[in-house]
Amino acid sequence: MSQPLIAVEKVSKSFGGVRANSAVSITVEEGKITGLIGPNGSGKTTLFNSIVGYHPIDSGSIKFEGREISKLLVPQIARLGLLRTFQQTRIYAEMDCVQNMLISVPHRNATLTDMFRAYPAELQDEAEHLLEFVGLYQKRHLISGDLSFGQQKLLEFAMALMNKPKVLLLDEPTAGINPTLINGLIDRLKRANQEFGITLFVIEHNMRVVMNLAENIYCLAHGELLAEGHPEEIQNDQRVIDAYLGA
Ligand code: ADP
Repeated sequence: MSQPLIAVEKVSKSFGGVRANSAVSITVEEGKITGLIGPNGSGKTTLFNSIVGYHPIDSGSIKFEGREISKLLVPQIARLGLLRTFQQTRIYAEMDCVQNMLISVPHRNATLTDMFRAYPAELQDEAEHLLEFVGLYQKRHLISGDLSFGQQKLLEFAMALMNKPKVLLLDEPTAGINPTLINGLIDRLKRANQEFGITLFVIEHNMRVVMNLAENIYCLAHGELLAEGHPEEIQNDQRVIDAYLGA
């Protein structure tokens, strides 16, 4: 079997007395969409933060393409091609969509100073192409603060794609988005996976979405791994059902 793209082994992380992750082991396979579910407070965001280097882990190991990354800093990990999006969008509300796309690129380049250079025409083309991909082409020159919340999330997704990540960690991509936009977003996530070959690891509260999207799903409860399996297995797993009902 080929090595997983991300291998988290027995990772523990506490905040004061709170054990947010307790010996969690998961793998994310290259080219696939992996889901992460669990009740509120079960440690999902903490696991994402550990993977992308937002905080040091207490123990365990995190490997990306076989290389230990748990001691690296956020920008170093981002440069390897491992990026995340947030539950709350992080866009510059006073800039238009194209400008947001262009300033999102430093992860792809080596230095921060690249941010201040003139943007090459091909980068502008790429920005417009990706805005078209997420359905925002007509709004590309609108101030992004004037977009709906759902559209801002699509913009944030397009901004992440500008960096040509190998793997994208998405924290509740459909939270706060209306049902019509959700279907469009699911479709685009699948296309980004299939057409651009981006591996996705997705925290998702909406069961319909995660069951539709992910090939393999992990469920956390109280900071521990409760179950892993295909959508049908997870849906029918009594421990998962109990964790949600008991939440
Ligand atoms: P989830 O994403 O599944 O809702 P989190 O990873 O956000 O869960 O939280 C897991 C636990 O860790 C919770 O009890 C939360 O209060 C705690 N926690 C998370 N981040 C911090 C932090 N920065 N400081 C203190 N406690 C935290």
